[in-house]
This record gives sequence, structure tokens and C-alpha cells, in this order.
Amino acid sequence: MTWYADLSPYTYLRGQRPEAPAVNVGWLAHGHSFPTGDVPAELVPRLAGLIEHAPTQVTRGLHDCEFCPPVTGDPRRAARWGLDDSMPRGNAEIRAVGVDGTRYAAPTLIRHYVAVHRYAPPPAFIDAVLRPSPHEWHHALAQDLCFVCGDVLERREQYRSGDETLLTAACPRCGVDYERRKPQRVG
Ligand SMILES: [Zn+2]
Ligand SMILES: [Zn+2]
Repeated sequence: MTWYADLSPYTYLRGQRPEAPAVNVGWLAHGHSFPTGDVPAELVPRLAGLIEHAPTQVTRGLHDCEFCPPVTGDPRRAARWGLDDSMPRGNAEIRAVGVDGTRYAAPTLIRHYVAVHRYAPPPAFIDAVLRPSPHEWHHALAQDLCFVCGDVLERREQYRSGDETLLTAACPRCGVDYERRKPQRVG
């Protein structure tokens, strides 16, 4: 994966959201040391929630963790490394917004880096991630609100896919692009 220093200006895939500049966090790569240490216990679960409910910039490529041994095709070896349920692989990003409005852009692998490799992200990023979400996930989904920051999403496209309606929407504040599937309404 491409390496970026923590808190450097985010430029990866930037052309897609020039109106929402962000700074990098957690773009680790082999050959570049990174800070380690204890982090608040809520950080990993909160990162997991953002990865599950608000991934953005989903790319076609997969990034493998460069600090883990290759595990492809050998589940027993993966299990021995404790990797069975947290594949050290990412293909998207998450966003967080600090109290000062700073947007942070992190690869989804950041959860693995923190949980397994004891990566300690910048304190301002940790604060941003741990800021209580203004809405529960289900409420945010129903009201078209951003799960990360609570802002009203801008509708972009809506089209049918089989018997579902696929909505794409973006958050103007933190720059997250959402894809949501809703069952087709009858009548
Ligand atoms: Zn790893
Ligand atoms: Zn947002």
C-alpha cells in the first residue's frame, strides 16, 4: 500500500471529492516505522462500526497488511496468527471529523493495525473517532443522515437493482459516499 505520513494532506483518490479535503491517518507500509501504544478500549469497536456502516472510496483493488505473514490459502496458519475473522486486507476508507472540523481519511485496514500491530493513531484522530455518533445506525439509515457526523446526506442517484432500490448519497461535511439498498416499495 502506498505510504502517507499521518496528518499529511490526503491526495489518494482525491479527484473524486475535491470539495472535502482531508488529512491522512493510518496509511502504514513496510519500511516506515509507526507509533505504537495503548489506545482507548472503545477505539477498535468504533472503527469497526465505521467500517461496517460508513465505508467510502471503495476501490476494486485489495490492500494486504504488509506486516503480517502471507496467509492466503492456509486457514490454519491464519488462525494461528489470530487472523481468521479479521482478514488483514482492506479495499475502502473511513472518515472521521474532529471538533475543529478537520476531516481524517483512513484505510479500513486501520482497525487491524490498531488491534493487531498496536498502531497508535494521532490523538486528535482518536478523539474524532470516539466523538459520540449523533444517531444510531438504524436511525441514520432511515433518515438519510450521515453515520459519521450526523449531517443530512445529499442525494445523488437512485436506481433499481433487481427488487431493490439502490441509493447513492454523499455527506457534504465529511465526504463519505454512501450506497444504500432499500427493498422496492410495492404500490
Ligand atoms: Zn497485519
Ligand atoms: Zn458526515
